[in-house]
Amino acid sequence: LGAPEVEALEAADVAALLPAPTAESDKYRRGVVGVAAGSDAYTGAAVLAVGGALRAGAGMVRYSGPDLPTALVRRRWPEAVVGEGRVQAHVVGPGLGTDDAGLVRLRRVLGDGLPAVVDADGLTLLAGEPPLGGPLVLTPHAGEAARLLGADRADVEARRLEHAQRAARAYDAVVLLKGSTTVVAAPDGRVRVNATGTPWLATAGSGDVLSGVVGALLGGGLDPFDAASAGAWLHGAAGRLASGDEDGTGLAGGPVVAEDLLDALPRVRRDLA
Ligand code: AMP
Ligand code: MG
Repeated sequence: LGAPEVEALEAADVAALLPAPTAESDKYRRGVVGVAAGSDAYTGAAVLAVGGALRAGAGMVRYSGPDLPTALVRRRWPEAVVGEGRVQAHVVGPGLGTDDAGLVRLRRVLGDGLPAVVDADGLTLLAGEPPLGGPLVLTPHAGEAARLLGADRADVEARRLEHAQRAARAYDAVVLLKGSTTVVAAPDGRVRVNATGTPWLATAGSGDVLSGVVGALLGGGLDPFDAASAGAWLHGAAGRLASGDEDGTGLAGGPVVAEDLLDALPRVRRDLA
């Protein structure tokens, strides 16, 4: 692996990437995102991934899943449409479970060749699969990346950039390796890093929101590398805003829960304009 040119995405870059609605926009053209997340055991992941996609500006979210998470998604997000249908991008994996039912859902979702974000249990399932589907954004934390690569977690932590690149090549996918700084690697060797976050983001459900955000950007027409890097930027900035941790050290500010990120996302977007 050659030494990559590492790029840090700035606010102005993100602002230029994000699509703005126009007079010609309708909800379909703004991007319909399919979310296949959640299971009877893990219901919250569904609610958070749907919320991340909606609050990042998807024109519509279609949710599909078992009865229990479906009921909770319906109650929390009346805006979401339940059931499969035409979409421009998918989010698959958060709370999916790693059993046969999860694998069936993963294969069905990725089988149509549309751009997709694969996170969490979806990554565990993907690790054993032959190449599947269309353009992918994988969003592992270090432990998930280690599983994808058959590597030790400590090795991934010690050389995050190199491992993100290796995973991108191995899976022919954009890999967004989460952590205190997030590394986004493309299969062609490009790398971006994002440091807009805060340690207050290390909280349950935070990554589920991120998967929805990246899904909304993919559905809105960004290419996978841009969707992943702009998504990481927005999610990190939402964490800082929600926690009040302005410099991102964690010394200032206070705890956030994943739902707080949902409220902060539109405010981050407004501040960019
Ligand atoms: P997950 O592990 O899937 O819940 O995702 C956690 C989210 O929190 C990711 O977006 C990480 O980048 C972020 N995160 C976790 N730990 C830190 C940290 N120490 N500093 C900044 N961001 C973090
Ligand atoms: Mg996660």
